[in-house]
Amino acid sequence: MTLGSFASPGIDSKRRATPLPRPIANMKIFTPDTSIASDVIPSANFGERNKGRVPDMVLLHYTGMPDAQGAIAQLCTAGTDVSAHYIVLEDGRIVQCVPEAKRAWHAGVASWAGEDDINSCSIGIEIVNRGHDWGYPEYPLRQVAAVIALCRGIMLRRNVPSHRVLAHSDVAPSRKKDPGEKFPWHSMANSGVGHWVQPAPIVRSEGLKIGTDNDAVRGLQQALARYGYGVPVTGKYDTATMEVVTAFQRHFRPAKVDGVADHSTLATLQSLLASLPVETTAVAAG
Ligand SMILES: [Zn+2]
Repeated sequence: MTLGSFASPGIDSKRRATPLPRPIANMKIFTPDTSIASDVIPSANFGERNKGRVPDMVLLHYTGMPDAQGAIAQLCTAGTDVSAHYIVLEDGRIVQCVPEAKRAWHAGVASWAGEDDINSCSIGIEIVNRGHDWGYPEYPLRQVAAVIALCRGIMLRRNVPSHRVLAHSDVAPSRKKDPGEKFPWHSMANSGVGHWVQPAPIVRSEGLKIGTDNDAVRGLQQALARYGYGVPVTGKYDTATMEVVTAFQRHFRPAKVDGVADHSTLATLQSLLASLPVETTAVAAG
């Protein structure tokens, strides 16, 4: 047996790691908030959290670009007006771009639980994945493991409750699909990250859809709003309602993402609400 036989069993030695862009010359390197960040590439795009808001939400994204280098350049270069606190590469490396204390620019126009300055209340994690427009590959296991480790650390340090680890699509359902229905929220939950219940089985059922106008739609909208989604309670199943139901399915019932509130969708939503911490339900209802 040669020495080479012992080389890194878990790493494919034929594949080189993605080279990271060098930090921009005039940007000051800061100390990462976590020891599991392998690199710091400071972004020029951030500000102060409004009114000193302490972050209590983690927002997950995919980069939605053909490669990691392009995404890192986009998120760090001055003038693009976008950034995130962290970028998680496909091989599991974690790059920090904005200190957690600062307000990164990742959410855009968004709302959750009545709050619309999502950048001020959240920590943004960009997961490198080409996204729906570029073939939407599966998330590699080692990348998911890195996201889990990163989220667990943030949740502990920042006291973020599980039900406030969310998808970009949850807070901006009319504009965003990320991180999408292939993101393994169930695996995350098995490791203590995020709120999840086993989705109710899909059975043949009528379902509420575009054009439905009745009390059942009102009940659905109230339930979605109680969970946190920004949806007007009108009793009419309009485009906005369909988009929120689609976002809900991408996150919580990914086997069928069609914007129709069928029995499985409604039952899954009810069991999520029933398993929220008591104080959250009380606040949302009041
Ligand atoms: Zn996003």
